[in-house]
Amino acid sequence: MNIHEYQAKALLREFGVPVSRGVPVLKASEAEAAATTLGGPVWVVKSQIHAGGRGKGKFKEASAGDKGGVRLARSVAEVSEYASQMLGATLVTVQTGPAGKRVNRLYIEEGSDIDKEFYLSALVDRETSRVAFVVSTEGGVNIEDVAHKTPEKIVTFSVDPATGVMAHHGRTVAKALGLTGDLAKQADRLVTQIYTAFIAKDMALLEINPLVVTRQGELRVLDAKVSFDSNALFRHSDVLALRDETEEDPKEIEASRFDLSYVALDGQIGCMVNGAGLAMATMDIIKLYGMAPANFLDVGGGATKDKVAAAFKIITADPNVKGILVNIFGGIMKCDVIADGVVAAVKQVGLNVPLVVRLEGTNVDAGKKIIRESGLNVLPADDLDDAAQKIVKAVKGVG
Ligand code: GDP
Ligand code: MG
Repeated sequence: MNIHEYQAKALLREFGVPVSRGVPVLKASEAEAAATTLGGPVWVVKSQIHAGGRGKGKFKEASAGDKGGVRLARSVAEVSEYASQMLGATLVTVQTGPAGKRVNRLYIEEGSDIDKEFYLSALVDRETSRVAFVVSTEGGVNIEDVAHKTPEKIVTFSVDPATGVMAHHGRTVAKALGLTGDLAKQADRLVTQIYTAFIAKDMALLEINPLVVTRQGELRVLDAKVSFDSNALFRHSDVLALRDETEEDPKEIEASRFDLSYVALDGQIGCMVNGAGLAMATMDIIKLYGMAPANFLDVGGGATKDKVAAAFKIITADPNVKGILVNIFGGIMKCDVIADGVVAAVKQVGLNVPLVVRLEGTNVDAGKKIIRESGLNVLPADDLDDAAQKIVKAVKGVG
């Protein structure tokens, strides 16, 4: 689960992390009061969407102006003007995709006087089973580009969970960023604060880009992206309360209500599969035969008829889906339950696209019988290869 920048900063502040003062704003009419409270003389008006690259982003509406999604303002009037331009407009950045994201919230911050911009992130490194830090002097730019062009400018290390952060970690960061004296001490404190927050809140990623040194000699977090481990959310009700469902795909929200592993993609073949490995293989083979999957969907092991029906409805509700491939290898999952769920869903919502069903494993005969006797227009398939070819052919034939 992701949260907004302003929420991430409020959370980090609880751990002592140095962030600028700011006020979140939902309506343009609140901007003036927010700016007056902060006092100026420089403010930053920041679009709050779950995507990066906002500064260099472009609004779809000409009325929103061409100054990007993060703007420096030099008067209260300018803050108000930017707020009314940006709120409600659609911001397109390198991370939003061409459709962009509607800006429903702004964060108005006191402006910082920047001397240098750095990069610092913490993430779970699955290879070492530790929290790893990534640090670079090249801040405010895309870190993937830095890693590609100048890998020597990136320093990484991981923290042993048995000891936690130690003095040498702070020194490593200070050295990597060329910080000495009091700034080195600030870097040392920051590493401890970040690690403590990361562990306490079960984060999956905490990315600070940029981390800045101000002309007043302060180290400050200017942008923060935080993702949480969704498997640990049950023990963080405070974090769950920060969820902004308007930023998420409605299909994925619906899927999470039924505890389905679902990820929306941009292809045309809807897939209903059991088991993550089989789901991946199904997506691969659809690609092999020249089309792309519209989703990843694992209905899991002991799914009920209702859960299967919910999954099928989520797939059919997607207007991009031009054909559906059900591929089940029944082990714990029973083929007749899948068949019952599919038939029930089609009875409720209808079926306007070709459907290929491949069933194998537990109760396969009962499952095939249910499909056969339902009167549904289903193309049966014998194996995965056959199923993928059939659905691609059916969709291409129709389209
Ligand atoms: P992003 O584009 O979504 O990554 O948004 P950021 O919060 O990182 O802001 C983009 C850029 O705006 C930063 O890299 C800074 O160069 C600039 N910026 C953000 N806040 C301030 C500020 O307080 N003062 C100044 N001078 N520039 C800022
Ligand atoms: Mg940034």
